[in-house]
Amino acid sequence: MSAPLEFTLLHPANLTEAVKQMQAHPNARLLAGGTDLVPNLRRGIGAPDTVIALGGIDTLNSITETASHVEIGAGVTLAGLLASNLPTRFPALQAAAEIASPSIRQAATIGGNLCLDTRCRFYNQSQWWRKANQFCLKLDGDTCHVAPKGKRCHATFSGDLAPALLVLGAEIRVENAQGGRWQPLAQLYNEDGLDHLTLAKGDLLVAVRFPTSETRRSGYLKSRVRRAGDFPLAGVAVALTRTGDKITDLRVAATGTNSAPLLFDDFADVIGQPLSDAALTQINKRIGQAIKPMRTTNQPGLYRRQMVAALSKRLISTLYEQGAN
Ligand SMILES: Cc1cc2nc3c(=O)[nH]c(=O)nc-3n(C[C@H](O)[C@H](O)[C@H](O)COP(=O)(O)OP(=O)(O)OC[C@H]3O[C@@H](n4cnc5c(N)ncnc54)[C@H](O)[C@@H]3O)c2cc1C
Ligand code: SF4
Repeated sequence: MSAPLEFTLLHPANLTEAVKQMQAHPNARLLAGGTDLVPNLRRGIGAPDTVIALGGIDTLNSITETASHVEIGAGVTLAGLLASNLPTRFPALQAAAEIASPSIRQAATIGGNLCLDTRCRFYNQSQWWRKANQFCLKLDGDTCHVAPKGKRCHATFSGDLAPALLVLGAEIRVENAQGGRWQPLAQLYNEDGLDHLTLAKGDLLVAVRFPTSETRRSGYLKSRVRRAGDFPLAGVAVALTRTGDKITDLRVAATGTNSAPLLFDDFADVIGQPLSDAALTQINKRIGQAIKPMRTTNQPGLYRRQMVAALSKRLISTLYEQGAN
């Protein structure tokens, strides 16, 4: 890693101050736990002149629950989420326990995880390594080394929490100088490794929420090289309702395959049917048409494609076999 860069570090005490500072410094980077941003900056990935640290904004740090929604502040750490009763009640959120290592989870936040930069073996490297390889389209270069004939970056979204929250029907709260809005979490993402977030300059992710009444059985499974501290080669979250012997609702979401996490909730062919090998094949056919794992990791895309199929099959079967909801 190269030496840390010089920048002005701002410490807003509340949301209003943060939004004002973001308006005054449109190119500033936001710093939450810093477990993604800081290693990237130290690799020469980005050189902001201003960094806005969100750690002093207490209102981002709470988990609240009403009759309609469970709301998690963007500043809640992964350790904080795991210490709450939410992963027991909404098991897909156990995904947080599969992220990085216990010490990183003490600092890493929900907001930072949802806004994680896309990753690629040609990008998450030191400045000298990238320079020796003529840089690439995502930063400082003009060719994608993964798909040299194309004009886009295929860097992969590798956050583990997004698929879990997607199958729970999550929405995010975005604030800026003009006010705030709730929007479906899926709309946070673009299928573009260069520009995978739809947040505009001045937008701050402040919270994520999902319905308190969520009753689907849910879970998350992940494939990775090392069990501790590794990004997903592929990750799959599932939420399923079984009524009698029939699947009456099914959502699947995948991470680690595309530049955005993908949500699949259009399984008309299997809804109202018992789970069968034919239904699992149909489900995986639908997912397989959309996922596009490219050679952005040291493991081939085909392997990651096969892992998505295996993980979704295993998880759907396990949740179904738990019986009717
Ligand atoms: C060794 C190691 C292993 C890791 N393994 C995993 C893993 O297995 N799975 C995984 O998902 N991640 C992994 N990570 C990445 C990272 O630790 C987590 O994704 C973490 O949750 C990021 O949160 P953070 O608060 O540290 O984000 P930061 O690093 O502070 O920020 C990440 C990005 O989000 C932006 N951002 C932060 N907060 C906001 C906000 N409120 N609004 C708008 N933008 C915001 C920042 O500007 C930055 O671009 C790993 C990291 C390391 C170092
Ligand atoms: S996918 Fe291509 S452009 Fe994107 S980071 Fe990798 S090599 Fe660079």
